[in-house]
Amino acid sequence: MLGSAGFQANQQGGGPRWGSTQGFQGQMDPEDLFRKIFEEFSGGQQRGFEGFQDFSPMEVYLDLTFNEAAKGANKTMKIDMMDTCPRCDGKGSEPGTKITKCGHCGGSGMEQVVTGPFVMRSTCRKCGGTGRLITFPCVQCQSKGQVKLKKSVTVPVPAGVADKQTVRMQVGAREVFITFRVATSKTFRRQGADVHSDVEISISQAALGGTIKIPGIHSNIELVIKPGTASHERFHFPSKGIKKVNSYGFGDHYVHVRINSPKLLTERQKELLLEFAQEESNVNGTVDGVHTIEKKVKQENVKPETIENIEKPGFFEKMKKVVFG
Ligand SMILES: [Zn+2]
Ligand SMILES: [Zn+2]
Repeated sequence: MLGSAGFQANQQGGGPRWGSTQGFQGQMDPEDLFRKIFEEFSGGQQRGFEGFQDFSPMEVYLDLTFNEAAKGANKTMKIDMMDTCPRCDGKGSEPGTKITKCGHCGGSGMEQVVTGPFVMRSTCRKCGGTGRLITFPCVQCQSKGQVKLKKSVTVPVPAGVADKQTVRMQVGAREVFITFRVATSKTFRRQGADVHSDVEISISQAALGGTIKIPGIHSNIELVIKPGTASHERFHFPSKGIKKVNSYGFGDHYVHVRINSPKLLTERQKELLLEFAQEESNVNGTVDGVHTIEKKVKQENVKPETIENIEKPGFFEKMKKVVFG
């Protein structure tokens, strides 16, 4: 509650006001004069505001998951910030108590000081330019008019923001700089708006072809594996990446194929692979177990070509293509 309605104008204007220049006398270069007035005025204003109303910009961090950054999200966060004291409504005095007009400056917040031949107007030393004197300071803010409050703020995170990127947001009277901290993903690696991911396919899928569903940024992607796909082959999905935050469109998604070698083989699988190995013509080094088949073949007097005809030749052909290209 304000003690007098007459203070309203001063408070709204933020304290001291530069009025007329009638107080000045004598000769002085207009530019120098202006500079002196300005310095006096701005300096006085800073002193007057010290610890009273802190609306300087502040910086906070906001943690995002990979997907939140990629697709955008409305994130609610608590920010510790100085804001208008809820107890005194920013007036600085205990509720129900009066604020008296500063007797020294008559409530104007300015006083006249004689500087050489001039009479300068400067911030009132007694009230610090506020024009008021608080007899009963607010117990919550100690007459500062502001207190540290936990403010709940919803940040509309735009799709495509990157790690360490900063956005500016107005929160009440404060300007808040929000720097994003984007978590890494177990599935995706990011390169600007492009994303890369890995997919494991089986030996048979690589050799014979097939399909596999892989997680995408926006929806699952069906990857068509062509017969004879080699390990580390890269599949390109244009515009399936992350939204470009500073321009139009989306980045691309690259899928890197890795052929997963079977860890456990059934007897039948082992047999087939040994027979397959038997067909390989340009193996660099040796294949474990292949010599035993050679023996078996010799014992049974069956030519290797015959085995190829009995077993699935297409499979062997494709396997060869995978391994040797
Ligand atoms: Zn207060
Ligand atoms: Zn005063």
